[in-house]
Amino acid sequence: MVAAEWAASEYGTVDVLPGPCAVCGSRTGVRHPSGWVCAVCEWRFGDIVDGDLPPPRVDVVYYLGYADRIKIGTTANPRQRFAAIRHDDLLALERGDRSVERHRHAQFADERFGKTEWFAVSPALTAHVEAVRGGVEPWTRHARWMSEAFALRG
Ligand SMILES: [Zn+2]
Repeated sequence: MVAAEWAASEYGTVDVLPGPCAVCGSRTGVRHPSGWVCAVCEWRFGDIVDGDLPPPRVDVVYYLGYADRIKIGTTANPRQRFAAIRHDDLLALERGDRSVERHRHAQFADERFGKTEWFAVSPALTAHVEAVRGGVEPWTRHARWMSEAFALRG
């Protein structure tokens, strides 16, 4: 629980939430004098998520590793999308839609296999994926984006 350890070192006390987080389902929270926040996505525990509305749309560009290649694509439904793609690991997620995806495809044109979304692993691509990942587990980062999007919806 890297996120929780970080949060605990900065402020608050890590403990079991009184119930699952309404946004990401985590059971780990950080207790502050003003109340609880989720240790994964930082949603304020007790704030209501309006279940009658569809979840907010968060577009991501994803990097899926499979053997010696990486697929760079985009989706707003990553869990559903990844279930349909053969892969070993989710390497990284970055916020962005088709325009960011197009930019990445052009950036790594030398590594690209034909017209596919698959790219050969190279030092440049590996360094890029590590930079995008930023030392944070991709699903943890995604949960925070969803939490922010829910909060912005009000
Ligand atoms: Zn959460």
